[in-house]
Amino acid sequence: MPVPLHLVDHPLAHDALVTLRDKRTTQEHFRQASSRLSLLLVGEALRDLPTTALTVETPLGPADGRRVGRDVVVVPVLRAGLGMLEAVLELVPTARVGHIGLQRDEMTAVASQYYSKLPGSLDQSYVLMIDPMLATGGSAVAALDLLERAGARTIRLVCIVAAPEGVALVARHHPTVDIYTPVVDRELNAHKYIVPGLGDFGDRLYGTV
Ligand code: URA
Repeated sequence: MPVPLHLVDHPLAHDALVTLRDKRTTQEHFRQASSRLSLLLVGEALRDLPTTALTVETPLGPADGRRVGRDVVVVPVLRAGLGMLEAVLELVPTARVGHIGLQRDEMTAVASQYYSKLPGSLDQSYVLMIDPMLATGGSAVAALDLLERAGARTIRLVCIVAAPEGVALVARHHPTVDIYTPVVDRELNAHKYIVPGLGDFGDRLYGTV
């Protein structure tokens, strides 16, 4: 694929992913698996986060260490992206949080924005956009457009399942955005759902099936 696509190939990521895919998985276990998988994906997406050196005192003496040296902003795309947010905040408790609300027309699959609230000074930040299902890529591109218009320069897109169409669309419109996912599935169906995918992520996360 002609994109900065990072396939996160970790046994624990695959274990969580298969739990998410399984239609028998309860809402509670779906949430837990989504959180587990997000931790692994976000850890990988933040691998090159700059750090600054410092020294602390342990009970036995000085120890050199490193602290995160760059502002991190996480932006869940509502509402499914919220299922990945806690994991990011667990790893980066100081992260600032923006929100983007996009609604997908069920017939046309075209995304329209209904909400946006982003932190300032995004040009200095390391921005993680979290959106579990990269299907057509329409909403991801709309959200990335918005982030770039707001000044974001370093953006990573973290998703749980991607479709080839979504990866290609993001690559075409935002070639500098790195995508982190454990898997690129086969295709989209006529309703623009990922196949085999895992169904509607938001519905399964929130029990609105
Ligand atoms: N959104 C979902 O929740 N699932 C898909 O398969 C595609 C978009």
